[in-house]
Amino acid sequence: MKKQSITQDLNRVHAREVTADKTRENALNILNLGNVANMPKTQAETVLNRINRNSGAFVENIELEDLSKFSKSMNELQDEFNRTKVRGGIHPKTVINMSRREDIQRYQREINAALPAKKDKNGVVIFRVNASAQSNVSHHMVQVEFLNFQAALSGGKITNNLADAVLQGAVRFDCDCGRHRFWYRYIASVGSFAYGKAETGFPKIRNPNLKGLACKHVIFVMRMLTQSQSMTGFMKNYLSEFRENPLQRKKTLSNKQADKIAAAIAKESWRNIKIRRTNNNALPKNIRDVFSASSNSSIRGTGITPSQLAKAKAKDIAPQTAVREIQQKLQNPDVLNQLSPQQLAQIQQILGGDK
Ligand SMILES: [Zn+2]
Repeated sequence: MKKQSITQDLNRVHAREVTADKTRENALNILNLGNVANMPKTQAETVLNRINRNSGAFVENIELEDLSKFSKSMNELQDEFNRTKVRGGIHPKTVINMSRREDIQRYQREINAALPAKKDKNGVVIFRVNASAQSNVSHHMVQVEFLNFQAALSGGKITNNLADAVLQGAVRFDCDCGRHRFWYRYIASVGSFAYGKAETGFPKIRNPNLKGLACKHVIFVMRMLTQSQSMTGFMKNYLSEFRENPLQRKKTLSNKQADKIAAAIAKESWRNIKIRRTNNNALPKNIRDVFSASSNSSIRGTGITPSQLAKAKAKDIAPQTAVREIQQKLQNPDVLNQLSPQQLAQIQQILGGDK
């Protein structure tokens, strides 16, 4: 009895030391936790951002050239990333935003349930993703490594915010389906957001024309991480369990637990909301709806709201001034870089410029 409790004590001390080390390592990250809206870009996001600015759409069609630019930039910037501590991984939101329309449609039509089936001390969760809630036949396993897990484990009160910072923070992922293995694992490996073994061989036979970032299973899981209240609850429990006992082994959910969480997730309203694409959409006809759902936001980078423009036009009060002002701002390369060529053309058309 006594001997066992000494061992337990030693284990506990050891665990505390390990945790303290990790706390120091992750000090920077802890500061950033809890600020879900403003998380620093990961390596892949930094590079993707540059590619977007230079070549318009990465999402619908990744040309070989884009991919080699991506790979080259990742390599070139590695020293800078190390020096400035820019981390690997990718945010679930970016995965959704960068996914291909076709994969998003498949996610919406074909995937109905995902369950966190297994979790371990390193912040890795295995999700079982099903075509339907009842079907056990065609399920796939999506593994997600939460890169903020250790930092969250080390300190801070376990709140909804902390749990969401882990769920919506940078992740690495993998799926065992064919589409991921043959299409997306390579991009994930290049971008340093692949969980597990890196894929180094270029998928030249299956995928000469790489597109998108993630399969329908991964999209479902990423969507769940950003939307599901049940996932917030799951992460809070996960953190407190492993904070109390960092040495415990992997945990698999019991059938009862799995049924409970499946039932809760099935009732959540985000399931019925379609993904709204936020980038690379062509301009709608009505300029009011152009860059934002709210007509109070200014046209990106110009400082003029669509309603101001509409008013100026309607009242015919020096509309040319407003138009000139926008035209002028469009000369600014920083503003220009945020627009796709189609968007630019449509703005010009609406403004009555180059016809
Ligand atoms: Zn998949």
